[in-house]
Amino acid sequence: MKPKKQKSQSTPKPENDVSTNLDKLRAKLDASLKESQQSSERQEALSAPQMPPQVILRARQLEKKGKFTKPIVKRTPLDMRWDSAELECGHPIRIFGSSEEASNTCRECTEAWLLRQARKAKR
Ligand SMILES: [Zn+2]
Repeated sequence: MKPKKQKSQSTPKPENDVSTNLDKLRAKLDASLKESQQSSERQEALSAPQMPPQVILRARQLEKKGKFTKPIVKRTPLDMRWDSAELECGHPIRIFGSSEEASNTCRECTEAWLLRQARKAKR
């Protein structure tokens, strides 16, 4: 004498449907996320020379200690704002005309060091 209960048992619970749909959606999202991660990794490998993380960390330590900081040996005003400066290592940089710094980090020396160390680390 309880037809209501029987009916509810025979029909599938709607909550289950929602959760399986969500699972499917999540799986799809995961897959597309993985795909995009893989493609960006590939792009990075193609565009940038592969730099081992330990080399980058070492370079940061050395930068803090001033390894890549070179004294400015020559300075020529370029315009109202900028000076062209020559570092002790011979590399040119641009600095603010108002800058009072007697030395500066040399990007070229830093990059050269990084490339050298990366090559060594690969061997
Ligand atoms: Zn330099």
